[in-house]
Amino acid sequence: MRKKYAAGNWKMNKTFEEGQILLSEVVNMVKDELTHPNVQVVLGVPFPYLSTFSKLVDTPKVALAAQNCYPKASGAYTGEVSVPMLKSVGVKYVIIGHSERREYFAESDAFIAEKVDAILAEGLTPIFCCGETLSQREAGIHFDFVKGQLTNSLFHLSEEAIQQVVIAYEPIWAIGTGVTASSDQAQEMHKVLRDHLASKYGAAVAEEISILYGGSVNAGNAEELFSQPDVDGGLVGGASLKSRDFTDISKSFP
Ligand code: PGA
Repeated sequence: MRKKYAAGNWKMNKTFEEGQILLSEVVNMVKDELTHPNVQVVLGVPFPYLSTFSKLVDTPKVALAAQNCYPKASGAYTGEVSVPMLKSVGVKYVIIGHSERREYFAESDAFIAEKVDAILAEGLTPIFCCGETLSQREAGIHFDFVKGQLTNSLFHLSEEAIQQVVIAYEPIWAIGTGVTASSDQAQEMHKVLRDHLASKYGAAVAEEISILYGGSVNAGNAEELFSQPDVDGGLVGGASLKSRDFTDISKSFP
């Protein structure tokens, strides 16, 4: 059975003190309330908080993610953070390829592929984001575009390695806009992506890969989205900043 995920992406929000409060609320609620044995909660928090937070998380139900990394292991890269550094403070997941990084920091598919390799080399799990713009969807090229993102950044991986990757489909028009993809639109794209994975790695491998949906997921729409057969959870931005809402999202699996 594929692993299910409720992954929060705090982005550049919360001071250290505010973050500590949010973290402890989520950890305590998840410990008390989340009974689904196959759901992993992941919190993507700002870099400076990871070291302290990893000591505060006292349940395997919750793991920490970084929101970015640099693909080199060490060296003269002022201001960057490597995967061995993240691993050394207890981080288990790294969000990469987010549309905000692709847009504001001009990250290419090839650069994101390097990050995938660096993360897997340290035994961490990449949460690989992909998704189309509204104009690409309106032009009817969204399936090919997102399939291309997978091909360009993931399809160099071995059959074993691809199974360590979590994919997050996040249509850009749905991120932070309050406009969610309908559950049919999400399922349609997730099926296209799983079939694309199957065309390269075979159906059995594709069946093992978790594909999350992201883009205005909230406590009111998560259940409908997560009930779709190819939707294995969510990557949640705005609603992950509210402990009650985010915990409810983590409990929205069938
Ligand atoms: P949102 O963000 O839930 O606020 O739309 C999702 C994301 O960017 O990961």
